[in-house]
Amino acid sequence: MSVELFKPKTRLFRGNLHGHSRHSDGVLDNAEVVETYQNLGYDFICISDHLWSDTRFCAQTVNPYVYSDSDTFLTITSAEIHCRGKAMDRDGLWHILANGLPLDFGVADDAETGAELVRRAVDAGAFVSIAHPEWYSMTTEEALALDAAHAVEIYNHSCAIEAGRGGGTYVVDLLLNNDRPVGIIATDDSHFRIPDAGGGWVMVAAEELTSKAIISSLKLGHYYSSTGPNIYDIVLENSILSISCSAVETICVAGMEHRSLYDNCSNKTKAYFDLTDFHSDWFRISITDAAGKTAWSNPYWKGKHY
Ligand SMILES: [Zn+2]
Ligand SMILES: [Zn+2]
Repeated sequence: MSVELFKPKTRLFRGNLHGHSRHSDGVLDNAEVVETYQNLGYDFICISDHLWSDTRFCAQTVNPYVYSDSDTFLTITSAEIHCRGKAMDRDGLWHILANGLPLDFGVADDAETGAELVRRAVDAGAFVSIAHPEWYSMTTEEALALDAAHAVEIYNHSCAIEAGRGGGTYVVDLLLNNDRPVGIIATDDSHFRIPDAGGGWVMVAAEELTSKAIISSLKLGHYYSSTGPNIYDIVLENSILSISCSAVETICVAGMEHRSLYDNCSNKTKAYFDLTDFHSDWFRISITDAAGKTAWSNPYWKGKHY
C-alpha cells in the first residue's frame, strides 16, 4: 500500500501568516508591507494587526486593506486577536492568530476567555493558530484549553530575533501527545522595526491563489512550514517512509513521547525510514540544512492519514 502523505499536484504558494502594519503597531503602511514581501518572492501575506481595545498597540477593527492579483500576489484578511485571562503575559493577554477573518469580527469583551475567542474565530471561518507559545511561557493547561485551534506556531521569527524565544515544538508535541491533531506553522510576526521579514513561512499546495483556496488548504494540512529548506514529497509505502527534500544535513521523524528516527549525512536529499517498529499514533518530520535552517511537515496520524 502506497500513501502519498505530501505530494503536491498543484503549485505551492509561499506565504507569511503573521505580520503587522501601521494599522496597529507595525512601522510600514499596508502597501509597503506588500512591496516588502513581493520583493522577497512571496505569493501571499496576511497582515494580522493586533485587534483589541487597548489603543497603545492595537487596532479596534480588522485591517480592511486588500491587495488581490490572483496571478501574482494576494493579501488574506487576518488579525492577531487578544483577550484577557492568560497568565505569564505583561498585560494578561492571549495572542491568537486568525487568518481569513471577516472584516466585521469584533473586539473581545472583558469576559471572553481565550478558548471562547478561538472558537468564535473558528466559527467565523478563520484558520486559527496559537501564536508564539514559547515567547510568553504558555502552560500545558493553557495550550490544552484552546481546544478549537487549528495550528501552533513552531517558529516565530520576530520572537526568535528579539527575545531568543521563537520556538513552539514543545507545545506542538504536548498537544499531539494529548490526541490533539494540530497543524504546524512558521511565521515572521514582522513589525519591520528591524529586518524581521522572510524568516519563517508556509508553503501551501492550492488549486489557485485565492483566500478561499489557501485557507481551505491550510485547514486540510496541505502545506509545510520552513525557515529555509524545501520538502518535496513524503510517501509511505507499506512500512517504508520516504522523504524528498532540498539538500539538508539532518532528517528527523518524531513520534509520541520521545520516539524518533533520524538520518544525518551531508547534502541529503532523500531518506528512507522503516516504521515497522515505530510504535506511535502519529509522526512528523523535520529537516535541517547546513545553515541550521529547518522545515517541518505537518503531523500524520495513524487511522487518518495512513
Ligand atoms: Zn503576539
Ligand atoms: Zn504578532
